[in-house]
Amino acid sequence: MDKGQIAEITIEDMTEDGAGIGKYEGYPLFVKDTVPGDRVRAVVIKDKGNYGFGKALEILEESPDRVSPLCPISGPCGGCQLQALSYEAQLRFKQNRVISSLTRIGGQSADKVLPIIGMDEPLRYRNKAEYPVRMSRDGRIVMGFYAGRTHSVIECGDCAIGQPGDARILTLIKEWMEESGIAPYDEESGRGLIRHVMIRTSHARKEQMVCLVINDKKLPHQKALAAKLDFVTSLSYSVNTEKNNVIMGREVRLISGIPYIEDEIGGIIYSISPQSFYQVNPVQTEKLYRTALDMAQLSGGETVWDLYCGIGTISLFLAQKARKVYGVEIIPAAVKNARENAELNGIPNAEFFVGKAEEVLPAHYAATGERADVIVVDPPRKGCDETLLGTIIDMAPERVVYVSCNPATLARDVRILCEGGYELVKVQPVDMFPQTVHVESCVLLERVSNRKTDSYATA
Ligand code: SAH
Repeated sequence: MDKGQIAEITIEDMTEDGAGIGKYEGYPLFVKDTVPGDRVRAVVIKDKGNYGFGKALEILEESPDRVSPLCPISGPCGGCQLQALSYEAQLRFKQNRVISSLTRIGGQSADKVLPIIGMDEPLRYRNKAEYPVRMSRDGRIVMGFYAGRTHSVIECGDCAIGQPGDARILTLIKEWMEESGIAPYDEESGRGLIRHVMIRTSHARKEQMVCLVINDKKLPHQKALAAKLDFVTSLSYSVNTEKNNVIMGREVRLISGIPYIEDEIGGIIYSISPQSFYQVNPVQTEKLYRTALDMAQLSGGETVWDLYCGIGTISLFLAQKARKVYGVEIIPAAVKNARENAELNGIPNAEFFVGKAEEVLPAHYAATGERADVIVVDPPRKGCDETLLGTIIDMAPERVVYVSCNPATLARDVRILCEGGYELVKVQPVDMFPQTVHVESCVLLERVSNRKTDSYATA
């Protein structure tokens, strides 16, 4: 199709970022803001040869799965891509994404994938938000979220998937900025002070943590801010004077209160610093960790590795049922939290290493020759390093539990592990991020044989 051409199409599927996909005489057209089941009149805005991008001019017939988004800014805001889809349809979409990756990329059969675990109340789940602070064209301070794929800020005081208490904090910070003459950050010039406001709320304790990310070494008018936010458990600021897309700076300084908040998941208490990674959906996290623990099938005598362990959340869950758990994490502040958390909960059999999983595990194995009974991995979106997968195969644990936030890299890594002598037993998708396109999975692999050796023996 050519740019400017108009066609009537039915949206049949959705891309991984939530755009509708329809076909016109076999030519796939990606159309934003449409959902599967919609019949639309669309114009081609970019032709890529075999496919194109379109814009919906009119929705001729609405999909039965369409709902009115709860949030008034769900369109421009880049956070929730699926708010126009009913929750049942969102879960179906995610289930299919996991199945499609594991069958297409992983070479697995679809029946290994169990029905996704959804949320009873798929709103107000996020315990953390990072609000960019900017000056609007008409000279007002705005705090909100980036519009999809851009850095223009859409004002939002009350995010539908966030915490209702954030709105009050943002209003008070804005007041303080106005009263003290403090300017928001300007990305173009690199001037202005306040870049982001990070707010984290503990689900179990209702404690609030506020951390201002600032573009200077020191924050002025701290007392006035602390007085306004005297109900907050932890108030701090982080220095980030670099012109980059990273939100938090390396340093965090306390303004008032204590340097962390505490949360509790499944009977374990976690102390969380502003810099540490902590799962954003506490209700679903408990289900995810329980699934991982069930899959690990621990009886008390096992040696377990928890790779990409963050603040030791999964490690401490596992340590209660294992002989020894080793955790590996790249961020030193998170490992510090992990060690404190082990102590806080009186868990003596968890030990943590700072470093890259793909370096720490091979080095430890080479030095000690010590094998593992179970290895748990929970890598970021890019999945596991191939060196690491090789070491896991060499160490030959009975079970590998793979927690993944990206079905595509999960499927790639599952294929490698299966070629190395493992068998995929089951996949449990968990909806950790309702209203968005993201989906988490917890996977159990079992060792069937040392297939490398077998194939040499029979060759
Ligand atoms: N299992 C934890 C954290 C999972 S997020 C939890 O459930 O809370 C992934 C973690 O991997 C992050 O904490 C990140 O800092 C860490 N990470 C990223 N790359 C790594 C690497 N190469 N080696 C070890 N840890 C890494």
